[in-house]
Amino acid sequence: SILTPEVSIHWDGKALTEGPGASKGDAPEGDPTEEVWKTYYSSIFNPARVKIGAMLKEMPKKYWKNMPETALVPSLIAGAQARESGMVATAETRSRGIGGNIESAWEVLREEAAHCTRCHLYKHATQTVFGEGPLGATMMFVGEQPGDQEDLAGHPFVGPAGQVFNQALERAGIDRAETYVTNAVKHFKFIPRRNQRLHQSPNLDEISRCKPWLVGELREVKPRIIILLGSTAARSLIGTHFKITQQRGIITGTDLAAKVIATVHPSYLLRIKDSQQRQHEKALFLKDLQLAR
Ligand code: URA
Repeated sequence: SILTPEVSIHWDGKALTEGPGASKGDAPEGDPTEEVWKTYYSSIFNPARVKIGAMLKEMPKKYWKNMPETALVPSLIAGAQARESGMVATAETRSRGIGGNIESAWEVLREEAAHCTRCHLYKHATQTVFGEGPLGATMMFVGEQPGDQEDLAGHPFVGPAGQVFNQALERAGIDRAETYVTNAVKHFKFIPRRNQRLHQSPNLDEISRCKPWLVGELREVKPRIIILLGSTAARSLIGTHFKITQQRGIITGTDLAAKVIATVHPSYLLRIKDSQQRQHEKALFLKDLQLAR
């Protein structure tokens, strides 16, 4: 509902109706969707896209207090700056060759992947979402492909599946910042449906066209343990007939890393409707992460 002193407008999901003007007391206390919105806003926040001047032009600062997300902006910018300084410092130590300006092979790879046209997925995605994490990380997690929020933010596992992933990592005592997190496919594949973008699983052709980037990341990061999250990651690195239901756990006979572990994808856990079964599957996922640890 939109309530104003002159008129109110209501949408019930099917029809729009008009009503009389309203006063402040007619509005319910608080806003139950605010927390959801703030979480969404934080995860898609891209400091490079913040244009304070344009924001002020659209809405003077005195009204900012009415918007839940504006209170988040200073801390998000501060966090982004810290992340950025960390990245610059890492890049500097890695890139100082004799002349002081040689880029690391990983940076070159990421830069090339940003312009990838090896399959058609680049045409509709916002951007390439490359892997993130320290080079030399002990563990590398490989997901399927960026989702809606990852596509907008440009970072892997920052949306709903990312939250499930983060929680499980924390429970397993794994610090995500010390791991390298990437995807088998680097562009978001979706079909537009009304005002949504519905996830579509990548096919074998898209997976294999994207594989050189993943192999490049493996070469540069050199993880000791690879954790394959779901069947797309396993099909990319182990084989096209891989079945997570039958081959979950430690994978033998591969020289990709000292240990390779296959487990389910965090978004699978989100899709389980029955809460008992969801808890059970979450516990198994946690066990796999503990095994990795
Ligand atoms: N699912 C993935 O496989 N990767 C992401 O980055 C997000 C969701």
